[in-house]
Amino acid sequence: LFIAFEGGEGAGKTTQARLLAIWLRDNGFDVVTTREPGATKVGMRLRAILLDRETTGLSFRAESLLYAADRAQHVDTVVLPALGRGSIVITDRYIDSSLAYQGFGRELPVEELRAVNEWAVSGLQPDLTVLLDVPPSLGLNRFSTPADRIESEPTAFHERVSRGFRALAEAEPHRYLIVDASLAQSEITRQIQEKVLGVLPD
Ligand code: C5P
Ligand code: MG
Repeated sequence: LFIAFEGGEGAGKTTQARLLAIWLRDNGFDVVTTREPGATKVGMRLRAILLDRETTGLSFRAESLLYAADRAQHVDTVVLPALGRGSIVITDRYIDSSLAYQGFGRELPVEELRAVNEWAVSGLQPDLTVLLDVPPSLGLNRFSTPADRIESEPTAFHERVSRGFRALAEAEPHRYLIVDASLAQSEITRQIQEKVLGVLPD
């Protein structure tokens, strides 16, 4: 079972992914939590290039390919081996982040990005994607750390990303759970658990 968490900045993906993993482990499942970009050694180096503010002049297509390269390494060396062992894999970001950030945010063609990314992961799709939907004005204010290269983009960019995530989720309602990330944390957790119960193996 492969579950992805998606959403804009400060949506609470990391927290909810961790809480879901704890709950599943308490219920006897073997769970691997992971994230993009940067879950592998190579990925850490790609993450530094992608997010350091010293990176200047990176073209949008090059940026897209670096995220896809991180994802290919992640899927080949972490996700597929874990799924092969029978673990539940929970990833903090996956292909939809590329469609939302580089597609809607950078305004590159979404279907081309989808094709590149499907090749990068040899077609591996999540069984469930949880979208934590938060208005950028709220999410971007949740940080204490200095903004990275992407977080520093203007509000209009983050608004496009946010609309993009919603459009992607609404296009495939069976595969997505959209949660209002401005709700109380316990209510968000409850909605996620309810949905996950429906996709769990026996
Ligand atoms: O840890 P976090 O998920 O915040 O780090 C990933 C960062 O990379 C995010 O700030 C997000 O803005 C950016 N990102 C991106 N395009 C992707 C995936 C992530 O710009 N495809
Ligand atoms: Mg971030």
